Amino acid sequence: MLQVISCLVYEHDYRYVLLAAVICVAGSLMSMRLFARTRRTTGARRANWLFLAGVVSGSAIWTTHFVAMMGYMPALQHAYDPAITLISLFLAIGFCTIGMVVAASTRTSVLIEFGGAILGVGIAVMHYAGMSAMRVTAQMAWDPTLVAISVALGAFFGAVAMNRIARPVTRFCRYGGALALILAIVSMHFTGMGALTLMPDLSISVPDKGISDSLLILGVLAVMSLVMGTGLSSYLIDNHNEVEAVQRYRQLALHDAVTGLPNRHHLASKLGEIIGGDYDDTSRIAVIAIDLDRFKDINDVHGHAAGDIVLKIIAERLSACLQDGEFLARVGGDEFVAVKTGLYQKSQALEFAARLHAVVCSPVEDAARVLTVGASLGVAYYPDDASDASTLLSRADLAMYRAKQSAFTSICRYDSSMDEANRTRSAMSLELRHAVERNELELYYQPQNDVASGDLVGFEALVRWNHPQRGLVSPVDFIPLAEETGLILPIGEWVLREACTQAARWSNPYKIAVNVASAQISQSDLPRLVDEILAETGLPASRLELEITESSIIEDHQHALSVVRKLKSRGISIAMDDYGTGYSSLSTLQNFPFDKIKIDRSFIASIDTSAQAMAIVRSTIILAESLHIPVLAEGVESASHLKFLRDQGCHEAQGYFFGKPVPIANIQSLVDLKVIDMPMLKTA
Ligand code: C2E
Ligand code: MG
Ligand code: MG
Repeated sequence: MLQVISCLVYEHDYRYVLLAAVICVAGSLMSMRLFARTRRTTGARRANWLFLAGVVSGSAIWTTHFVAMMGYMPALQHAYDPAITLISLFLAIGFCTIGMVVAASTRTSVLIEFGGAILGVGIAVMHYAGMSAMRVTAQMAWDPTLVAISVALGAFFGAVAMNRIARPVTRFCRYGGALALILAIVSMHFTGMGALTLMPDLSISVPDKGISDSLLILGVLAVMSLVMGTGLSSYLIDNHNEVEAVQRYRQLALHDAVTGLPNRHHLASKLGEIIGGDYDDTSRIAVIAIDLDRFKDINDVHGHAAGDIVLKIIAERLSACLQDGEFLARVGGDEFVAVKTGLYQKSQALEFAARLHAVVCSPVEDAARVLTVGASLGVAYYPDDASDASTLLSRADLAMYRAKQSAFTSICRYDSSMDEANRTRSAMSLELRHAVERNELELYYQPQNDVASGDLVGFEALVRWNHPQRGLVSPVDFIPLAEETGLILPIGEWVLREACTQAARWSNPYKIAVNVASAQISQSDLPRLVDEILAETGLPASRLELEITESSIIEDHQHALSVVRKLKSRGISIAMDDYGTGYSSLSTLQNFPFDKIKIDRSFIASIDTSAQAMAIVRSTIILAESLHIPVLAEGVESASHLKFLRDQGCHEAQGYFFGKPVPIANIQSLVDLKVIDMPMLKTA
């Protein structure tokens, strides 16, 4: 021990010792940082970090040793053997790398400390190799006990260093690791130096080819600055990349990929922040739910790429029209939410909503076409309508649904009756589930007549729901609900079976038209079901007409076409219902083998007052004529409607003028009239 202390106190030049200490501290800190980084990486990246950590720590140990040697016994003439000096550097790097590889190979086992011990032994190996490179005019004698202690100290503190990094308990453990490495280097070095006794012997000569002190210090510092610089810059580059990656992930996590707008998650936290933050109690916050109308058609007809372009352009325009205190997010496929803070008058929010509506509805010009969508907007206010962000959002949604259903306005403000309506809807969907089993559904029949002669040619079956409490519920109120919930499949099957059963009993072979929802075409094996029902009821296929709307065709064109072909091959006729209200593309008419086009009643209702409606009806009849498809006009309510249609050459008509939909009992006398009295029907 005394030898070690005397070596420290008397045999060193402290300027070098100080420099060595600086290198030792900086090198140890960096080595442990780099080693800690390896534990957060895997695969090739981890191997690279391990190599770098090994090079930096080995070089730090080596440099510390030789700089400290500069301060050792400057009185005797000495030099260093270049080859062995270099070998000692590689030994240090080799041991450090192997030690770190071993320590990093496990998360829990004692290999961590074992790896550290290898690193610590490496310090000793480097030290004694470095000492053997020294050529000095003296005899060198080693105290084996101190040599052994020096090796043990290196191994012990090396193990502690790895232990602190790999099994941290606080964030300061990385400094604890660096401190242990410093202790490993320092205690090993000075104990090792203490183990050495030099007995001057002038008969020993120092070779000329040895490296002098000044050359050694230059070389050592050059190596050290290169290695440390490389290590530091790699660490900083990686850190920077990591910060960038975190920012990118944050951007991705909080923003929508298609439009770049904040997403639902971002919106929720933003709203929460606004409401929970330093909020001016005298002002209001408006939340506006925006849902695009007819967007699905664009996706279906023009493809998802066109849909994405439309969304992007609309999002850009919406963002560009935002003012101070306004925020926009995309929360779903075609749903957006806008927030306006600092409102003192509700009209400000309605102006904002109108501004957003105008922006969404202006046509979008894509390279080849002009696409237009509509929008329904629902407005809810904080604190008037809700006291927390999620209720506020769901109330804005409710108002938006109301706007969607309304024929008169695209912007609705939330009011408490909407909650009631929503609850009614939920209750209704539960009850609808049992409607078929409880026999609550009933079919009404509406006559269809020949325009030229006025004769009856068939009936359309229209479903009603005899609700025990609500009374007779219109299909307009429950069919959309049935479509949303999938209940349309059992309901549709019931309607088909009931209509065919009734029609098969009629003495007169009138046609029976049955509405088919899009889900029945896309999700069920409709031709098989129809075969089964026709066989069961004995109704000839030629008497059955299925009415489908354009939307069911658009959803899956190919599948719908194959279903329609199968049905037609059995002799069933297919009518296109509500023509003019959907996308009404000419290609649908051309590609689909329809047997009838039913012009929607909204056009017939306006032919007396609107020149456009008149023109649409007229041109539809001409178009259908040229495609050899007969036309039926719906909603014929007056003699003037009928006259106009007759003049235009329309074939059939349906409407209150001929008869409202009525229960089966009301048409019994008609369907059982003697055929002889009705010559027209023989061919029907
Ligand atoms: P739709 O198939 O276009 O049926 C015609 C609708 O127009 C019927 O309404 C009918 O009552 C009404 N209507 C007929 N003539 C006139 C008229 O002169 N003036 C006016 N203002 N209206 C007239 P309803 O029965 O309320 O049915 C509405 C819609 O519900 C139907 O439209 C159809 O899309 C759907 N629907 C009805 N029954 C079924 C069904 O069994 N299955 C499916 N999937 N949908 C059905
Ligand atoms: Mg119909
Ligand atoms: Mg219709």
